[in-house]
Amino acid sequence: MCGIVGAVSFRDVVPILVEGLLRLEYRGYDSAGIVILGEDIQRVRSVGRVAEMQTRANAQDLHGLVGIGHTRWATHGGVTESNAHPLISRDEIAVVHNGIIENHDAQRARLKSLGYEFESQTDTEVIAHLVHYHYSQTSDLFTAVRNAVKELAGAYAIGVVSLKAPDVVICARMGCPLLIGLGDNENFVASDVSAVLSATRRVIYLEEGDAAE
Ligand code: GLU
Repeated sequence: MCGIVGAVSFRDVVPILVEGLLRLEYRGYDSAGIVILGEDIQRVRSVGRVAEMQTRANAQDLHGLVGIGHTRWATHGGVTESNAHPLISRDEIAVVHNGIIENHDAQRARLKSLGYEFESQTDTEVIAHLVHYHYSQTSDLFTAVRNAVKELAGAYAIGVVSLKAPDVVICARMGCPLLIGLGDNENFVASDVSAVLSATRRVIYLEEGDAAE
């Protein structure tokens, strides 16, 4: 169980997310990635150190005001770039996840029958497609995430963004820690307070079953 960070800000969130992930390195991980919302979903991932992922983000001149990031400790699927988070559904929804989804096999089969294609071996990818499915039913991202997590068994802390709701990050937890950091004209989400302390000391710890926007 490794690291989640997310930010909605008036300034470039790429350095915020990278710094947050660097502060979570001590927890151990095997790969890292970030997604930034722009005209499309911009994703950078790499196996290995956060610094390697940061180099790639800089090389791509990645910038934006809303994004999520992750350091992964693989539980389902090997240590590969295509299994690194964030996982994306239909070029629209991106998800980072700490924990283990126990009913991922059943959800994968159901989502495949609904036409979703999988590009990783992770349990996490079912969350991305489930949120996409529920978002198509409700057209409200917060409600979609709440409806999606009702169908999950297991432990999770998640951060979710959508191209169709480009100014919010939705998060939810059950069995894994997650908190919100309140800044001035910017807010953060993280799995561990050390990731947000350089930006704010105002923190709300989510409780079991909570979701937040
Ligand atoms: N179970 C997920 C995976 O293997 C998340 C692991 C984690 O907590 O980093 O991708």
